[in-house]
Amino acid sequence: MPSDSSSPAGRVLGPQLLPGALVLRRDARTLQIGTGPGVTIRDRPGLGRVLRLLDGSLPLPLLARAVARDVPDFTDDLTDTLTRLVAAGAVIAPPAEPVPRVAVRHDRSTSQFARLLRDGLGPPAIEPEVEVLVSAGEPARSTFEVLVAAGIAHLPVVLGEGRVRIGPFVVPGTSSCLGCLDALLTSFDPAWAALVPQFERTRLLPVGLPPRLLLQAAAETINQVECLLRGQRPSTLGRTLALGPEHGDADLRAVPLAGACSCGLLAA
Ligand SMILES: [Zn+2]
Repeated sequence: MPSDSSSPAGRVLGPQLLPGALVLRRDARTLQIGTGPGVTIRDRPGLGRVLRLLDGSLPLPLLARAVARDVPDFTDDLTDTLTRLVAAGAVIAPPAEPVPRVAVRHDRSTSQFARLLRDGLGPPAIEPEVEVLVSAGEPARSTFEVLVAAGIAHLPVVLGEGRVRIGPFVVPGTSSCLGCLDALLTSFDPAWAALVPQFERTRLLPVGLPPRLLLQAAAETINQVECLLRGQRPSTLGRTLALGPEHGDADLRAVPLAGACSCGLLAA
């Protein structure tokens, strides 16, 4: 088996053959890349071996050196060939260097879950536009108050006893916040207000949720963040999404702006 095709962080550094596509021969003069439905290209001396080098791991200068060294019978212009292959849809050009926009923070109990998020969201931003905060059990509210005051969009993800709660996604000044959620929960159970200050205590809680639920919650969290970064409205903006272990167990609830909450001052 070939090694992992890209950098240690999974980043594509150079031209990459359409992921999952086989390089096949249709006839003496024609190659086919992939089968769904596949792209046919006219064969050229050495082209098949050049295609097999396109695993995304080699930036163009290194690729050119590898082709010159390992495929001497390939005498076409490599850049022109790659341009045609990209235009045909057989090869993906390396993406522009992404600017990190998201930071993932977590408590001592949730480092594994946070790693899933980082795998999906990329390297952490130094000055994030969005922060994802993961905790086992209810998180300390003081952290979120700071983010609201700083105007940084943030998404709390709470790994609870039996479910994962994602949200409310907070865009300060435009949506409800965790304080608004506390106000809502206090309206159902007045004692909730007495519990909230106790969330400030640091603790180490075992996470007993099934791996399938954690994977689903990580994927949903990444979806929510990417949706906001695309300029769209994520479903958890001003809402909570509780995911349970059973298939289809998803409960989306609105968190209304609480009149007494400090976030209302920003919206005013
Ligand atoms: Zn609020």
